[in-house]
Amino acid sequence: MTNLLDLDAAGLAALFADLGEKPFRAKQVSHWVHQRLVGEVEAMTDLSRTLRERLAMVATICGPIVVSDTTATDGTRKWLLDVGAGNAVEMVYIPEDDRGTLCISSQAGCALDCAFCSTGKQGFNRNLTTAEIVGQLWHANRALVADGIAVPWVEQGRAPITNVVLMGMGEPLANYDSVVSSLRVFLDDNAYGLSRRRVTLSTSGLVPALDRLREDCPVALAVSLHAGNDPLRDRLVPINRKYPLAQLLAACLRYLDRAPRDFVTFEYVMLDGVNDTTDHARELAGLVRDVPCKFNLIPWNPFPGAALRTSPRARILAFQKTLMDAGFVTTIRKTRGEDIDAACGQLAGRVQDRTKRRIRIHDAAGATTAH
Ligand code: SAH
Ligand code: SF4
Repeated sequence: MTNLLDLDAAGLAALFADLGEKPFRAKQVSHWVHQRLVGEVEAMTDLSRTLRERLAMVATICGPIVVSDTTATDGTRKWLLDVGAGNAVEMVYIPEDDRGTLCISSQAGCALDCAFCSTGKQGFNRNLTTAEIVGQLWHANRALVADGIAVPWVEQGRAPITNVVLMGMGEPLANYDSVVSSLRVFLDDNAYGLSRRRVTLSTSGLVPALDRLREDCPVALAVSLHAGNDPLRDRLVPINRKYPLAQLLAACLRYLDRAPRDFVTFEYVMLDGVNDTTDHARELAGLVRDVPCKFNLIPWNPFPGAALRTSPRARILAFQKTLMDAGFVTTIRKTRGEDIDAACGQLAGRVQDRTKRRIRIHDAAGATTAH
């Protein structure tokens, strides 16, 4: 059985070609699944009964299994989704006055093991499929519509989720094929029809995959920088040992030729006593001098067992001022959903680690703190 959530436009076209049906059927079905958000083939009432029966023999619509659904005092809502074999991933809805953003996961866990990240500390189990990635957006839209969400754009007939960020669990560029198929569904006018500017992929910097994304499906780009020199970044973001800063920044410049926005967003997590002095800020400003960019400073969010502290507010403000004085637009990310552990880097889900990460962490106790 094919899960219709697993198919981008090309996949749906192939399915209908196999059934000997006209290509427009693929678009019709895409509307039913991704715009009218139906949960079964039977509901597609403008397909003939015979076609519905034939389709139902080969295809289903199989959305995520929700384990929990929690709303924070600030309206941020987090879903825990069972992805089988003891794994679960999280997605987070962040309501704002002029948009609804969904932060989605791309992997069960993450193999890249950044020093400050809860997902990384959980280890890695597997890549999510396209159906599991697209299913997050499909489910969130359905749930919000079912709850009768009252926002102006829904009253005008648009979907509740207007922006998608791949900033949940996992490194999206390490799950390239499924992530690119999912991006295509997000952008497809016959599916979610989001503009490239409203879909942001955040990466810790897998350079070859970033070059491929530039060719295949450029969307808005956020890069997790976190340090302005290689020795420090090697410790915080271990993938830097493979793709050091000079290579990463060169890839960002290449990406900008094709990107829907004319800047890269650099994310920078603020860690007390690790990467947060004004000297660090000056070094950082010098490093990215030639890259059109904005900075988003993320006060580090704690999670159990982490031996790190978030920078004091005054130091974050001084860091921001140094970058602004050097001419960079710099925002400080507002922490959302803290009371339900839905803030950046707190998404842990449930991961049956296959990397023996926990044993390594235990052996290296102390060495994993970023000092
Ligand atoms: N793997 C991708 C996307 C997921 S993480 C990446 O690393 O970019 C999304 C963002 O949250 C990244 O910038 C990441 O560095 C940051 N982050 C991770 N753990 C955090 C924490 N505990 N507090 C604040 N930000 C965190
Ligand atoms: Fe993976 Fe991103 Fe967490 Fe690093 S910060 S461990 S790349 S999810």
